[in-house]
Amino acid sequence: MKTCINCGAALDDFDSFCTSCGTTVPAEYPGSYQAPAKTPVSVGGWIGRYMIPFIPVVGGIIYLVMLFVWANDTKKEDSFRNWAKAQLIVVAIGVVLGIILAVVFGVAISELANSYYYY
Ligand SMILES: [Zn+2]
Repeated sequence: MKTCINCGAALDDFDSFCTSCGTTVPAEYPGSYQAPAKTPVSVGGWIGRYMIPFIPVVGGIIYLVMLFVWANDTKKEDSFRNWAKAQLIVVAIGVVLGIILAVVFGVAISELANSYYYY
C-alpha cells in the first residue's frame, strides 16, 4: 500500500494519480513496496560451489562452513538459501546414519571376535 505524497491519502498500487487530491503519483514512488534486490547465483558460481567438496583434505570442511554462510546470507535468493539448508540437513542425516552404522557394525564385529576367542 502506498500513500499520496501531497495529502497522505491511501492509494492502490496501480493508481497513477491521487483519488483524493488529484496529485500525480510517480511510477517509482518511494513509498511503494519494493522487494530488496537479491543476487542470483551465476553458472560459474554454481560450478565453484560443486567443486569445493573435491578440494583435497580441507574441501569438505570448507564446504560445510560455506553451507552455513550461504544458508544465512540474506543477500542471496531464497531458493539458494533453502538449497544450502537442505544440503546441511542431508549432511547431518548422513553423519547420524554413519555413526549408527559404525556403532551397529562395531558391536557386531566385536561380538564375533569375542565368540571366536572364547569358544
Ligand atoms: Zn492526495
